[in-house]
Amino acid sequence: MPSRPHADERQLRRHVALLCDDIGCRYSGTPAEQRAADYIEGRFLALRLANVHQHRFEFPNWNYTHSELSIRVGGKTRRIAAAMPMCFSPGTGPRGVRGPIAYLQTGAEFDFRRDLRGKIGLVIGSLGLGDPKMMKRVRSAGMAALLTVDSRVPYAWRTTLGAAPQWMEGYDVPTIGVPFLEAERIVRELPARAHAAVEARTFPATSQNVVAEITGSRRPDEVILVSGHHDSVLGIVGADDNGSGVAFTLELARLFARRRPARTIRFVSYGVEEKLSVGSYLYMRSLPPRERARIVLALNADGISSCIGTDMAIVTGSAALERLVRQTWLKRRHPCEVRRAVNPYSDHFPPNIHGIPSILLTRPTIMTEGYWTLHSVHDNPDHVSPAVLARTIDTAAVLLDRVANAARLPFPRAIAPGVMRGVRATARQAYRHPWNPETYRYPTE
Ligand SMILES: [Zn+2]
Repeated sequence: MPSRPHADERQLRRHVALLCDDIGCRYSGTPAEQRAADYIEGRFLALRLANVHQHRFEFPNWNYTHSELSIRVGGKTRRIAAAMPMCFSPGTGPRGVRGPIAYLQTGAEFDFRRDLRGKIGLVIGSLGLGDPKMMKRVRSAGMAALLTVDSRVPYAWRTTLGAAPQWMEGYDVPTIGVPFLEAERIVRELPARAHAAVEARTFPATSQNVVAEITGSRRPDEVILVSGHHDSVLGIVGADDNGSGVAFTLELARLFARRRPARTIRFVSYGVEEKLSVGSYLYMRSLPPRERARIVLALNADGISSCIGTDMAIVTGSAALERLVRQTWLKRRHPCEVRRAVNPYSDHFPPNIHGIPSILLTRPTIMTEGYWTLHSVHDNPDHVSPAVLARTIDTAAVLLDRVANAARLPFPRAIAPGVMRGVRATARQAYRHPWNPETYRYPTE
C-alpha cells in the first residue's frame, strides 16, 4: 500500500503568511477579504478541482471612522486608547455623549433595577446581546451609552467585540468595548464620568464563499463539506482565527485532489463568519432542499493552530459519529478532547440547523475554553505552530478518507433527536434563526 501523503508544513506556513502578512486584516466586505477569496479560488483551480466558484451574497456590514473614550476621575481625565466601538454600535453624534458611569456588573436583570437615564453603563461580562431579554433591558434603560467587556479575554489589550446583524437590528445604544483590565480600573476608581464619541454606520456590502469539489467516483450524490473561514475581525490579521482553518481546507484539498474518493468532498471557505456565520448561513439558504439533503457531514475547522492549547473535536450528531471521531484520534495517539455538544459559534452550525451532522475542530488555549489571542493583535503568525496544524490535518485526513470511502456511511446522516432539540433551541435563542437579509432594516441616519 502506498504511504499516505502528509500535510506539508511549508505549504501551511505559506498559506498563513499569505493571508496574514501579505493580505493582512480580512474584515468582512473589504477588498482584503475578496483578495483572500481570490487566493483560495486560485489554489482550488491550481489543484484542478471541480465546480470552483465564488458564491457572492449581500449582508448588513458595519464599520466606524472615529472612536473616542475618556474617563474623568477626581478632576483628572484619561483617554482610553484601546477602546473600540462594538460591531453594529450606532454613532453618538459629532459631540459625543457625557455622563456618570454606572457599574452594572454582568448586566443581569437585578443590575438594571435602578434609574440609568442619561448614564453611561458599564457591563463586565459577555454582553449576551443574542438574548432578547438582555437587549430589551439595555435598550429601555435610557442610557447615553454603554461600555462593555468581552470577559472571555481578561487582559489589558484591545479586543474586537463582534455581533450578529440579526441580534442588532434596531439597536440604538452607542456601545464601546474596553479591555478587561481597563474596566477593572474604572470600577476601582468610581465615582467617575465618561465622554464617548463614536462615528459608525451599518450598510449593505458584498462578501463571498469560495466553493470547490472533488466529485465522488461511486457515490457522487453524497457530499462531505470541509470548511474554514477567510474573514477576520476588524483590525487584526486572524492567523489562528481563521488562517489556520483556511490552511486546513486548502491542504486537505491538496491531499485529496489526486485521489478518487467514493463520495464527493466539497471544500468551502466562508466569508463573514465573524458576524455569526453569515456566509455559511446564506450558503445553506441558497441551496435547494434536495441539494442540502445530499450533504452527509460538515467538517469545520476554526482556531486549530495555537502552539499552546488542547485539541478539541465537538461532534453535533449521533453517538456513532462521536465514536468514529474518538477512535480515529485515539488510533493515531493524537490527544484530543472529543465531546458531543451543540455549539452555535462557527460555520458548522447553519448545516446543523438543516439537520446535517458536524464535527468542529478547534484548540482552546485557556481554561475557560477560550483563546488567549482571541480577536487581538496577538493572533498573528508568531503564535501559530505548523506542526500542530499538520498533525490535526493528518488525523482529519484519516477520518475524511474513512467517511469518503466507506461502503456504507459509518454513522447516520442525522443528528440524534435529543441533540437536534438542542440545535433547534439554540438556533432560536442564541442564533435567532430564521433571519432574512432581504428584509433586514438598516438604521436611518
Ligand atoms: Zn473563527
